[in-house]
Amino acid sequence: MKQRRGPIERHVELERLFGADFFPLKRMPDPGPHRAVATPEASQKRVPEESRRRSAEAAPPVPPEFATFRDDVLQCRKCGLCETRTQVVFGVGSLQAPVVFVGEAPGADEDRQGEPFVGRAGQLLTQCLARVGVRRDQVYIANILKCRPPDNRTPRPDEMAACLPYLLKQLDWIKPGRICTLGNIAVQSLLSTTLGISKLRGRYHDFQGRKLFATFHPAYILRNMGQQPIFEADLRTVCRDAGLVG
Ligand code: URA
Ligand code: SF4
Repeated sequence: MKQRRGPIERHVELERLFGADFFPLKRMPDPGPHRAVATPEASQKRVPEESRRRSAEAAPPVPPEFATFRDDVLQCRKCGLCETRTQVVFGVGSLQAPVVFVGEAPGADEDRQGEPFVGRAGQLLTQCLARVGVRRDQVYIANILKCRPPDNRTPRPDEMAACLPYLLKQLDWIKPGRICTLGNIAVQSLLSTTLGISKLRGRYHDFQGRKLFATFHPAYILRNMGQQPIFEADLRTVCRDAGLVG
């Protein structure tokens, strides 16, 4: 069933998607359209932990052109996945993010909630980022495919070719200092390589003049918890190099 959204839910969702707010993993109660917005200066000051979360609400407004782009993608029917998805999973986070994380494709939870990496693997990613000292709303998170493949099958080349321009446009808007791919599919599709993650992870590659760092997919870490320290070290490397943590 497709979710029908009213104007208020849509407003809140737009704020959340563009980094004006961050709803962790559970939907928070609708705060309504009249929330106070902090001044830009307030977000610059060093503030204690609790109010830092609130200052994240003072993100700059979303450029209308980007909002239009997003609305267009939400309607996309360029590949067959539009027939089976619940909704397009566009991406989430700050347009000012210094790092963009790129996964494979939405799973069942993401398809249902409309947000990338909110299922079990996503929660592990969120936890590992937190252990590194980074909140989800400080980064941007997206996938190679914006619609869920049925039964989570591997994305097909024609689907990736159809969808990739959207990710490239997101990267053009955000211009992150670092891109971090999660798992085989993301790195292989961006670098057009068949090399496996074990050959590619833990270091930088050039992607269209940007620094692309490859690491494991968190779903792999769920099955191989022994690798979690390596995964966290990778996240720390890329977040440190992006200037998010010391
Ligand atoms: N796996 C992915 O690659 N992306 C998601 O958004 C969720 C799970
Ligand atoms: Fe469009 Fe990408 Fe969804 Fe295919 S996967 S319908 S190209 S948004």
